[in-house]
Amino acid sequence: MKKRITILMAMMLLLGTFMVNHYIKITYHMNIIEYFAGNHQLTQADREYLENHGPIIYGSGNNSPPLYFVDSETEQYKGIVIDYLQALSIELETEILYQPMTWAQALQKLETGETHLCDMYPSEERAKKYLFSDPIYFQRGVILVSGENKDINRAKDLAGRRVGVQKGDYAHEFLESQSDDIHYVFSEHYEESLRRLLEGQVDAIVGDEPVISYLMEEYRIKEAYRIVDEPMYELPSVLGIPKDKPELKRIINKGIFSLNQTDTVSKIQQKWFGISTPIGRDDQVHRMGLFLLTGGALGFMILGTVVIWNLELNRAVHQRTKALQLSEKNLQTIMDGLRYMVVVVNKQLHIVTANQQFHQYFGNRLKDQGVNLKEVIPDLPSSMNGELAPDLQTAEILLKGRDYQINACPIKYGPHMEEATVLIMEDITDRKIHEAQLLQDHKMAAIGQLAAGVAHEIRNPLGLIRNYTFIMQRSKGEKAILEEALHRINDSVEKASKVIDNLLNFYRLTDEATHSVNLKEMIEDVVELNGKLMENHHISCQLILKEIEIETCEESLKHILINLLNNAIDAMPEGGKITIALKEKKDKVQIRVIDKGYGMSEETQEKIFNPFFTTKRRGQGTGLGCYIVYNELVKLKGEIEVTSKEKVGTTVVISLTKAEGDSYEK
Ligand code: ADP
Ligand code: MG
Repeated sequence: MKKRITILMAMMLLLGTFMVNHYIKITYHMNIIEYFAGNHQLTQADREYLENHGPIIYGSGNNSPPLYFVDSETEQYKGIVIDYLQALSIELETEILYQPMTWAQALQKLETGETHLCDMYPSEERAKKYLFSDPIYFQRGVILVSGENKDINRAKDLAGRRVGVQKGDYAHEFLESQSDDIHYVFSEHYEESLRRLLEGQVDAIVGDEPVISYLMEEYRIKEAYRIVDEPMYELPSVLGIPKDKPELKRIINKGIFSLNQTDTVSKIQQKWFGISTPIGRDDQVHRMGLFLLTGGALGFMILGTVVIWNLELNRAVHQRTKALQLSEKNLQTIMDGLRYMVVVVNKQLHIVTANQQFHQYFGNRLKDQGVNLKEVIPDLPSSMNGELAPDLQTAEILLKGRDYQINACPIKYGPHMEEATVLIMEDITDRKIHEAQLLQDHKMAAIGQLAAGVAHEIRNPLGLIRNYTFIMQRSKGEKAILEEALHRINDSVEKASKVIDNLLNFYRLTDEATHSVNLKEMIEDVVELNGKLMENHHISCQLILKEIEIETCEESLKHILINLLNNAIDAMPEGGKITIALKEKKDKVQIRVIDKGYGMSEETQEKIFNPFFTTKRRGQGTGLGCYIVYNELVKLKGEIEVTSKEKVGTTVVISLTKAEGDSYEK
């Protein structure tokens, strides 16, 4: 990732450099890469080349003051460019010969190789004939018109006019590209053009600004003539070199580079013009510097931004990755810390990941990746087998003799957010045992209550038996007495054993078998068992019963009734009446337990089925009664409805289905 970005950055930098270079090449006719990368010292090979080459001949116009011109007094060839070339000659330790001629001849001789140097504007047309050195200075091409001429203000205005221009001058090439409707009047040199303007033979003359300015000064026409405000162009001046001399070009460029270091152009122009001048390397250097500075700054800004952005991005990615890794690790730790087995499977039920508990439990069978869950849990409930439902599902299964509750929940898993399911498996064996234990405890407590009432009933027949054995001992074998006594004893034994049977019925763990139950008899039994308890609390019990038999689990139903009756008794500490009604309603059977006790608030009603919820004092309530009622009813597929009002009483309605066979769920 980092490597790729570095490569990208390097590519951008390279591209940027090439773009800047290309721009400079187009605009300033200079190869900046060569400029900076090149070796600027003359090598031995360069010196040998110059030696073998012989004197370098510079040929140029003879009348373009102040650039190059032949002084009419001294017949000397001089000018800014000549001075510059002299400096170049010293720099290159090579003789340069100067040949003044007309501009047109200068261009032609350079092409044929008779001369070797001539300063000029680089143009596409000229590039076909010459090589160009790096730029020496910048100058502008301008238009000179009479002060009275107000119509010519830019190059476009020259259309249809007579324009004086030096033969071969770049100004001509430039105007050709602008308009094909100009009447050119060619001359050998600038001065000839100017004279034509002064004589009114042309409407304007065009050419290099320094030359035109210089001539205006010479001819003292600054008042009567004006250079139009908008220059035609502003371009670098370079040295043209014959096409077949690329080595010379390279060497000349080295010289130009050295002269730039010592600011030679600006020194020369100071000599000619004083401080402020229209031409010069100074200006160019300044513009070039400005351009490079702006370009460089821009480049660095972009590069800097890219680098910072990249670093920032890198840092953020790094941080996020770390956070993600950490949270993933944390998640795994949490998952491993759970006492549940957690496993994630994909749509085909292949195991994607699992926690430590799961691995420990299934061990070797999970060695291979992507084991199917059905292979390790063959008893997986059909609802979780195959296409998993999109919502939470719960099921109970038996694994190696222990009960497990499975909660399955759909999730999106992995980097591609694939549909998956997380299964959480909880060993609920102990909970189930504990629940059964609690139920048993509660039953024991209920029996404790019952026992108090029941003891009385057993003591009665026992007393009778003792009395009649005593009578038998005293009977002296009298048959009638013996028979009567045996009959009574028999009766009493039967009564006592019935009471004991009844009691034992409650002591047994819930017998889950269903059979035909006579509801009327069952209710009467329960009420009878609780008779003593109600009597103690001054409670009477009204029974409105019908002969109804249904297929159900008698044990469960008895528990339900006992608990409801106990709650009704508890609700009437001052005594009162409880009504138990048995009714048929379509395919349903309803048992109503109605008391006129203290009733319940709405808040209490909402909570009564929660295990251990009680409003009673410690030792009096366990909070398990209604919970048991509810659980037993679920088993019987029954329903419960509680209506209660504080200080008025409570009615509990239990509905059971009559239909045979499906009234009990295992
Ligand atoms: P416990 O009887 O041990 O408190 P239960 O689960 O049987 O536990 O009852 C929970 C609570 O519901 C009771 O504490 C009581 O507040 C309320 N309750 C149940 N049945 C009645 C009723 N018939 N009348 C008034 N309150 C009742
Ligand atoms: Mg209770």
